[in-house]
Amino acid sequence: PPETHKIPDLSRINICVRKRPLLMKEANKGDFDIISCTNPAILVHKCKTKVDGITKYIENSAFEFDNTFSEYESSESLYFSSIQPQIDFLFDGGIVTCFAYGQTGAGKTFTMENVQKLVITDFFAGAEIMKEETGALYTFTVTYYEIYNGKVFDLFDKHKEKKVQESRSKQIKIPGLKEVQAQTAEEMTHLIEYGLSERKTKSTACNDTSSRSHAIGTIHIKRVDSNNRVISDSGKLLLVDLAGSEKAHDSQSNNKSRRTEGAEINTSLLSLKECIRAMESDKYHIPFRRSKLTMVLRDSFMGGLSKSRVIMIACISPNSSSTEHTINTLRYADRLK
Ligand code: ADP
Ligand code: MG
Repeated sequence: PPETHKIPDLSRINICVRKRPLLMKEANKGDFDIISCTNPAILVHKCKTKVDGITKYIENSAFEFDNTFSEYESSESLYFSSIQPQIDFLFDGGIVTCFAYGQTGAGKTFTMENVQKLVITDFFAGAEIMKEETGALYTFTVTYYEIYNGKVFDLFDKHKEKKVQESRSKQIKIPGLKEVQAQTAEEMTHLIEYGLSERKTKSTACNDTSSRSHAIGTIHIKRVDSNNRVISDSGKLLLVDLAGSEKAHDSQSNNKSRRTEGAEINTSLLSLKECIRAMESDKYHIPFRRSKLTMVLRDSFMGGLSKSRVIMIACISPNSSSTEHTINTLRYADRLK
C-alpha cells in the first residue's frame, strides 16, 4: 500500500484521528456518512441531524491533525506511524502513553486491541535485537486495571479494588496491583487477552461499565541479568482505553448514580486535557491531582518530552446522528495541539 502517513516529530505530542466505517445497522436506519478524511485533514460535512428528537443543522467544519486515518486504513497503518517509531525510545527508558478518546462505539476498544497485538511482536523482536547488539537482556511485565468512578479495580486480580498512594517522594503507587511477567510473546498475548476478557465479562454483567470506565494496560520493560533477576526498570508503554466521552454529559442527568459517574468522567477527561496541554507547553506545574485518572498517570506527564511522550488517538463515528459527539471529539483533540 502507498505510504500516505508521515511519521510526525517524535519528540512531540502526536495527535491523530481515526474514522471507523459506517456500520450496517446504521446504514439500515438511514444514517449516512458525513465525514471526509484526507490525511492530515478531516472534514465534517454540513448536515441535518436529530438530537433528542430536535432537528439541528450542522455547518461544515474542517480540522487538521498530525495524521488522520480513514475507514479504509488498517490498525497497522496507524500503529506504524504512531507507536512503532517510539519502540527505541521505550527501550531507552522512555514512557509512552497512548490514549483512545471518543464517543462509545467510535472504535476505541477495536483500535486498542489491534494495536496491542502489534506491540507485542515488536517488543519481543526489540529485545532479541538488543541481546544480539549489546548483550543486554530484557523482560516484560504487564499490569491491567480499570478506573471506574474514581476507584482502581485490578483486572488481573478478580476486579479487586486497589488504593492509590502518594509517597513522600511524590511517587504514585498502587500497592498490591498484580504485575505479571511475560517471558514470551505468547505469554504476553495470553495476559492481554485475559485482561480484555475480564473487562468484557464484567461489563456485560454490570450494564456496560466498559463505556464508563478507563482501562489502563501497561507493559513495563525491564533489564535483567542472566538469572532473569531484574536489574533496572526501563521504559513503559501505557495503552489507555478511555471512558466514552459522551458520558461526561451525564453529569447533568436526573439519575443520581449516572450523574456521579458522569461528573467523574467529565473531571477526568478535562484534567487529562489540562495535563497534556501543560506538558506540551513545558509547564513546570502539571495539574495531575485533579482526577484519579491523571493521578495514576503522573509519570506519563512528568519529566518533559525527553522522558515521556503522549499519543492521542481520537476515534470518531462517521454517521450523521453522531455529528455532535464527533465535533466534540475533534474539538477536544484540536485543543491539545
Ligand atoms: P468503543 O470502544 O469506542 O465503544 P468499539 O471499539 O467497541 O467502540 O467499536 C464499535 C463497533 O465498531 C464494534 O463492532 C467494532 O468492531 C466496530 N469498529 C470500530 N472500529 C472499526 C474499524 N476501524 N473497522 C471496522 N470496524 C470497526
Ligand atoms: Mg470500548
